[in-house]
Amino acid sequence: MRTDTLTMPSPDMRRAMANAELGDDVFGEDPTVNRLQDVTADMFDKEAALFVSSGTMGNLLGLLVNARSGEELIADADSHVFLAEAGGAAALGGIQIMPVRTEGGIMEPEQVAQAIRPEDQHYPRTAAVTFENTHNRHGGIAWPLPALRAASQQARDGGIAVHIDGARIFNAAIAVRTDVKDFAACADTLTFCLSKGLGAPAGSILVGPHAKIAEAKRWRKMLGGGMRQIGVLAAAGLYALDHMVDRLAEDHANAKTLAEGLAEIKGIKLDLWRVQTNLVIFDINGISTAGFLDECKKRGLRADANGRTRVRFVTRYGIDAEDVQYALKVVSEVMGAA
Ligand SMILES: *Cc1c(COP(=O)(O)O)cnc(C)c1O
Repeated sequence: MRTDTLTMPSPDMRRAMANAELGDDVFGEDPTVNRLQDVTADMFDKEAALFVSSGTMGNLLGLLVNARSGEELIADADSHVFLAEAGGAAALGGIQIMPVRTEGGIMEPEQVAQAIRPEDQHYPRTAAVTFENTHNRHGGIAWPLPALRAASQQARDGGIAVHIDGARIFNAAIAVRTDVKDFAACADTLTFCLSKGLGAPAGSILVGPHAKIAEAKRWRKMLGGGMRQIGVLAAAGLYALDHMVDRLAEDHANAKTLAEGLAEIKGIKLDLWRVQTNLVIFDINGISTAGFLDECKKRGLRADANGRTRVRFVTRYGIDAEDVQYALKVVSEVMGAA
């Protein structure tokens, strides 16, 4: 239960990969990659899409095409872009991040307005804002569509671009019962991962207008991300979009059962309202995080810390209802002994 990136490609996904029609994607001649890009552009109702190696690269390109060196990007203080992408925007784009603390990862329109710098020779220029949906560090919280629309409108009124880090955008769409198009309409560019709950072995997509995607493609080449017969990976992505999206609801149901069970265990503090998708984050008392994780591991349950005092469990394809019951048994045992 460490993370959904551990999801393994199913036998049928592997078959789709083995049978993929291939070409050289740097020449734009891989028919399977081209199909994946067409399908996803359409799915998100954007002009174009680009297949990239990872969510980190999708976000990096999304930021590089929306902000220039010396400009500022507004991001949630607990966002993946700010905390977990090796400082790429700064290192490679000279982009400064303005972190904003939010409740649950949902940035209020007033917070967006306040973070946009006024025109003044002392200040960096604000170029863009990024919203994370679902929000990883905040426990997989999905943005309600009206909140996203309002924050995005505020950004647009302020003349800045919007990038959505939608690593788990399909989880978000299921949680708030909307179409991913509605989220994408709130953004200039959006990236999502095929390699998490959707189960592809690698790959992410960046969608946006033609001009920005063309620019992103140039950056992708510069960064060494121009790859050749990657239709083998794109085929996994196409398979995932056809067969792995609706089943994410099962992961959400398993996460909910898991969270309800955990909340009953003494020494565990968990906000049930935060468990909206496939992530379950909780605080533990009476035992150190490292000690807790160690004891769980001895019993065959692996998870990771989320910050210094918290633990994160993740449900995904390959983790079923029985596994959830086993995890609850392990945690009661470990907490009982603490
Ligand atoms: C996983 C994740 C990413 C990055 O994806 P990688 O494919 O691991 O580089 C970006 N944003 C969020 C919110 C994530 O959870």
